[in-house]
Amino acid sequence: MLLKVPKESEYPLLYKPSRELTMAEIKSDAIKKFTADLIETMYVKNGVGIASIQAAKPIQLCVIAKDFTPDKKTDLVLINPTFEKVSILRDWDEEGCLSVPKVYGKVRRYKKIKVTALNTEGEKIEFAAAGFFARICQHEIDHLNGTLFISKAKQLHTLEETAK
Ligand code: ZN
Repeated sequence: MLLKVPKESEYPLLYKPSRELTMAEIKSDAIKKFTADLIETMYVKNGVGIASIQAAKPIQLCVIAKDFTPDKKTDLVLINPTFEKVSILRDWDEEGCLSVPKVYGKVRRYKKIKVTALNTEGEKIEFAAAGFFARICQHEIDHLNGTLFISKAKQLHTLEETAK
């Protein structure tokens, strides 16, 4: 089922931190159904990542599309995720967001991070992320902490302006 993704201007809750999920919730049918809907919504809207709060559900769960090869579609679900930097190196690159349609801007992010989270079975997972993948992880974890990319971006512009 496709979920509604309210615009930033209509949904102030996007600026509030989401709450952690309990183990019972992670294993519940309701959360499994919601996760499937969130994944569907992300692909239909051509996103590379989406956080629950973007579908008006303020819980610490996000999905990342690790869809890097044409023959394979892998969705990475992160529950109660956190990250730490592996290197102090950061870089600026263009980002957009399903909650802020048509707006883009450059955001400075860590190039290499270590992510710790729970998977959909409630098991602890830990992995290293670099480059674009690390950027998506940081963007989504920001959402769970109530931060939108437009709060830290420079050179914000709309798609229409760029086209001129
Ligand atoms: Zn976003």
